[in-house]
Amino acid sequence: MKNISFKLKSLLTAIAMTSAFPNVAEIIPAEQVIKDITYLAADDLEGRASFSPEIDRAANYIAKRFTDIGLQPLSSAKADNQSSSFLQKFTVSQIQPQVLSVTINNANISQGNLAIASTMESVNWQQAGAEVHVINKNDDMRDTLSALNQKGGQHLVIINNAHAKSFHAYQNYFNRGITKLSLEHRGAIVMVLSDVGEINTYNVKASATITEQALTNVVGILPAANTEHGKEIILYSAHYDHLGVTEDGKQIYNGADDDASGTTAIINLAQYYAKQGNNKRSLMFSAFTAEEIGGFGSKYFSQQLNPDNVVAMINIEMIGKPSKFGAGTVWMTGMERSNLGALLNEKLSAQNTEIYQDPYPEQGLFYRSDNATLARLGVPAHSFSSTQLDKDQHYHQTSDDINSLDLSSMHKVIESLAVATQSLVDSTVTPTRIDKAKVRAQGKIY
Ligand SMILES: [Zn+2]
Repeated sequence: MKNISFKLKSLLTAIAMTSAFPNVAEIIPAEQVIKDITYLAADDLEGRASFSPEIDRAANYIAKRFTDIGLQPLSSAKADNQSSSFLQKFTVSQIQPQVLSVTINNANISQGNLAIASTMESVNWQQAGAEVHVINKNDDMRDTLSALNQKGGQHLVIINNAHAKSFHAYQNYFNRGITKLSLEHRGAIVMVLSDVGEINTYNVKASATITEQALTNVVGILPAANTEHGKEIILYSAHYDHLGVTEDGKQIYNGADDDASGTTAIINLAQYYAKQGNNKRSLMFSAFTAEEIGGFGSKYFSQQLNPDNVVAMINIEMIGKPSKFGAGTVWMTGMERSNLGALLNEKLSAQNTEIYQDPYPEQGLFYRSDNATLARLGVPAHSFSSTQLDKDQHYHQTSDDINSLDLSSMHKVIESLAVATQSLVDSTVTPTRIDKAKVRAQGKIY
């Protein structure tokens, strides 16, 4: 990074002059915020891709910070050293299709017109074994596939040539293989692009290889100062993985905003509350892996604790640039699903600021981050963000680097969240639970 020391100095001056919460700013030092995000978004970490050696370096950095702050590990599992006890390791399965051959009414279908999404090592359907579906010219292909994915099981889907373009998009996607946290649901969707009207006979053979790959969350806990509400957890989270490098390996997706900014926030919130040392509820800080490739970090994490104990989840995603409501402001997803936003705003009204409602409901952001996994379990789990996603030129681009951020705005958002969530930490408020029945389920196959 060029001229960082010069930039740093001017940033610090800017932050000192504009801090909205002077008392909080003294405890959340701007120098530390900048140091953390500079490390996490540096070229050195090669874009923190899941399964890369560089993401492990990011994990070690976060674990070291948790150690220095004085957090405790989630379990008493034996670890090589204190820092590594914060690492929550698990594996996912990657299913890569190998062979796929299909005949319909005794005619072979060419490879270019076939695709498969499967959690099974082999598929062998001869006139039976699958539910057969036809997607006609005027049917909604995406809706139909998504319904089959939610249902699970084994499906042969004949798709009219009118959908060729979408078919090839799915084909590209499925050809790269699919990743699953668990293979407990065995199912397959075989797609055939064909105008054949009636299916009299079918024959499908497919095989895939399954490999296990390792992933790591970083989780630390600040136990409650006394035991009265100690079982109750306030979860602060962010994802620390990103997209790695471009296909030619020449450019780096630094992911400074997405989501080194949120990761920096949870580290510094941990430091803030640890220094206060009087939290009435237990505070958990989780840096999730593999959000970008399917949210596997939060899925695994959610199975390692009783979600009923999680009073609220503050998931922080992309807070590095001013929101459309102004520098230092933040909005939240799914505000209407619990009263968490209203409770937080009670705290903020004295500061003449507020947490806004997600201004991009059409983007479905509630489902596009790790909060959705916990929300499915009833936790008031929301993402807090300041991205202007409708016009952000840097989103998922190699230009999402530290130079594109407004670190002063980001620092203010962290302060704002520290102030806003104080009543959760103090155990003076308890948000309503999210209605699980109203949270869309995840697909079983892809
Ligand atoms: Zn992203």
